[in-house]
Amino acid sequence: MSIVTNVMRVRETIAEACDRARRSPADVTLIAVSKTHPPDVILQAVETGLQHFGENRVEEAGMKIPVVNAQSPQPVVWHMIGHVQSRKAKEVVPLFQVVQSVDSLKLASKLSTLVAGQDQKLPVLLEVNVSGEAAKYGLPAWDWQTDAEARRRLWAEVEAVLALPGLDVRGLMTMAPIVDDMEQTRPIFASLAALRNALAEAFQRPLPELSMGMTDDYPVAVEEGATMVRVGRAIFGVRQS
Ligand SMILES: *Cc1c(COP(=O)(O)O)cnc(C)c1O
Repeated sequence: MSIVTNVMRVRETIAEACDRARRSPADVTLIAVSKTHPPDVILQAVETGLQHFGENRVEEAGMKIPVVNAQSPQPVVWHMIGHVQSRKAKEVVPLFQVVQSVDSLKLASKLSTLVAGQDQKLPVLLEVNVSGEAAKYGLPAWDWQTDAEARRRLWAEVEAVLALPGLDVRGLMTMAPIVDDMEQTRPIFASLAALRNALAEAFQRPLPELSMGMTDDYPVAVEEGATMVRVGRAIFGVRQS
């Protein structure tokens, strides 16, 4: 098993899913989730042409990202994909170019304040929980279609985040529940797309990005409109920790 072969296989699988959905593979960004893997392994993945990497823990990222950046022959775009405690926000900003896991107004405000005065807004995604699974982070978004009060609360939270001056809210991110058959994740991905459409309409903002799909379910996510897939094990193999 080599990273080169794995990346080729993942790219092929994305292209096949795009074919089925009549989409262009150019519209799907592959994010290599490198959590637990050391800088030398990440650099091997960089050599295959991958440019986007995802990490989920601030401390681990703080040790690895500067090493990879210093040795990489090309610029790497780092995506924060794990839960960030508000008090850790200041460590996230200098390391990551995109924060996909904005799951509260509190964190969003903190990030916005931290980038105030910089000439570029920080690109972020709002992490939402569309499945209702209790173990998941993300703004509650499983009953907005059926519960007017839940919808009002979610809309108010999103509106407040959209108003923050330091953030460029690019779209939504979600994690699907772990299931036996990837087909079972299709309604989750479809409901993320539906939520994006509803929010884009309500707030007149394009919200183009949908970050959804991991090793076990990314082909279905691509069929349902993912613009970013976050793939770890299919590229790097099983994680040790
Ligand atoms: C670990 C992780 C992934 C990748 O998971 P794989 O199953 O290894 O592809 C994707 N997204 C998030 C938020 C993760 O924490």
